[in-house]
Amino acid sequence: MFNRFRNWMSRWMTGRYGGDDLTKFLFVAYIVTFVLGLIFQLFEKTLWLGVLMDLLTWAIVLWSLFRMLSRNIQKRWQENQKYLLLRTRFKEWLKLTSHRLRDISTKRYRRCPHCRAVVRFPIKRGVHIVSCPHCAKKFELKIRL
Ligand SMILES: [Zn+2]
Repeated sequence: MFNRFRNWMSRWMTGRYGGDDLTKFLFVAYIVTFVLGLIFQLFEKTLWLGVLMDLLTWAIVLWSLFRMLSRNIQKRWQENQKYLLLRTRFKEWLKLTSHRLRDISTKRYRRCPHCRAVVRFPIKRGVHIVSCPHCAKKFELKIRL
């Protein structure tokens, strides 16, 4: 019985996109909006937010199902690539921000205008000409505080 169901399922899914990293992210987003919706609906004042979360939960479910059952595999793959790029950028931003906070009393982080690399400088107030350790080009560094 179960095997027959599985066979039928795999036949039905043939040629459809299925799950990917974006699907996993949407699943986590679904749980978050679902739980937030329950919490918000406990209180009179946040009831509207709860309803909004409910709608969002449904939108996420429908979008996930649409993506998994989609036959436009190329398009879904591209969406996933976009998601992965955003995720990488977000992780880099998070890492840089945590380093900035860690070094807030001793160092300043600046982006090199020539090669776009993020460079760390010791705090020396005022305007200085510095050279980038990555591309060796010079640029003006301003540190106010
Ligand atoms: Zn540079």
